[in-house]
Amino acid sequence: MPQQLHYAVAIVGAGSAGLSVAARLLRASAALHGSVVIIDPQAKHYYQPLWTLVGGGVMRKEVTERDQQSLIPKGADWLQEAVAHFRPDENRIVTSTGTVIRYDVLVVAAGIQVDWERIKGLKECIGREGVCSNYDYRYVDSTWRSIREFRGGTAIFTQPNTPIKCGGAPQKIMYLADDAFRRSGIRGKTDIIFASGNASIFAVPKYAAALDKVVERKGITAKYKRNLVEIDSAKREAVFEHVDSKERETLRYDMIHVVPPMSAPSFIRDSPLAGPGGWAEVDKHTMRHVRFANVFALGDCSNLPTSKTGAAIRKQAPVAARNVLNVLGGQPLDASYDGYTSCPLVTGYNRLILAEFDYDLTPRETFPFDQSKERYSMYVLKKDLLPKLYWHGMLKGRM
Ligand SMILES: Cc1cc2nc3c(=O)[nH]c(=O)nc-3n(C[C@H](O)[C@H](O)[C@H](O)COP(=O)(O)OP(=O)(O)OC[C@H]3O[C@@H](n4cnc5c(N)ncnc54)[C@H](O)[C@@H]3O)c2cc1C
Repeated sequence: MPQQLHYAVAIVGAGSAGLSVAARLLRASAALHGSVVIIDPQAKHYYQPLWTLVGGGVMRKEVTERDQQSLIPKGADWLQEAVAHFRPDENRIVTSTGTVIRYDVLVVAAGIQVDWERIKGLKECIGREGVCSNYDYRYVDSTWRSIREFRGGTAIFTQPNTPIKCGGAPQKIMYLADDAFRRSGIRGKTDIIFASGNASIFAVPKYAAALDKVVERKGITAKYKRNLVEIDSAKREAVFEHVDSKERETLRYDMIHVVPPMSAPSFIRDSPLAGPGGWAEVDKHTMRHVRFANVFALGDCSNLPTSKTGAAIRKQAPVAARNVLNVLGGQPLDASYDGYTSCPLVTGYNRLILAEFDYDLTPRETFPFDQSKERYSMYVLKKDLLPKLYWHGMLKGRM
């Protein structure tokens, strides 16, 4: 007989967003202790922003991994199952093993789906023979291996034109690779190609101007509006499709860093919570669902029209938690999110441009200097300070 449970707050996903909201709710309300459940099948939690530096050989991937159990805030229960169905009309969710959870308020924070299989041939070769990716803990080691073992030739770095998590990550690893090739003296016999499905290097003009200069200085060839659609690892060929003309172009590679297309998780896309594109459809300021008044969503699985980052979640989580408490207390929603997001654009070992902006793509910089300049201090912030703030501040609901 499947279990039937009831909680005041059910949170789907124990990633950056789910844990931050849970921790904030439990800090704010002693009455909620024992009444919050977090549902997530994954036994491990990953601090994904460091995968760029793992792929660049700066640190080992193990430092990005923690046992999920150790991060579940005190006062919350963890149900280690995958949610399969949403029944928002009945205030219920159902897991893949049939457990039914009734809730007063639901928070959806299930992240983004990485669609490896949408690139023909990729599944068969990812992690081997110079085909690598920072977008999965299983493969992130293969990036540094590919860079380290590269002996010259063509190195390709791809970015799809779908929404992805951390829009800057596909180019950050390319800048590290460029530096690594220079250090090992092989840059002179290397062509670096950035093949992106987007129309420019970055969405915010101020940072795009700075990054265009980095690309030029480093002698990288940028090819825009090209989506990777197929890899033939036996021939070491990558096939790209032009976004508008659909014309195909085949490029030979010696190493290729792949960022696959991404999409809304299928179980959200196929549910009543989905809006256009399949994302959980919420108000962009309150994070409340546009059709179900006791449902909220945030983070990568939501339709919030901002860049999908952990930094954005740092600003979303306090707003979502506050508005959840408002709903539980029968009060009007009084917290609002302005689209703040940030992308620490690593441009080499020891250099970083810290992009920060809002829904209008207007820069919203924290520091009293021009953050579009490459700086060592901002690199240290990303490498040493932000991980500490994540584990000890954000996931604990303290910041
Ligand atoms: C290479 C790389 C570099 C990045 N760099 C940066 C950076 O420099 N700065 C930055 O701010 N961000 C960066 N990010 C992005 C950042 O990691 C994500 O935006 C952030 O983790 C999203 O948080 P989330 O809670 O929405 O999703 P996640 O943290 O991905 O968590 C989603 C959770 O939902 C769970 N889940 C999925 N399906 C189900 C289901 N059916 N039932 C229950 N649970 C489910 C998953 O198991 C997972 O634990 C980077 C990401 C990558 C991959």
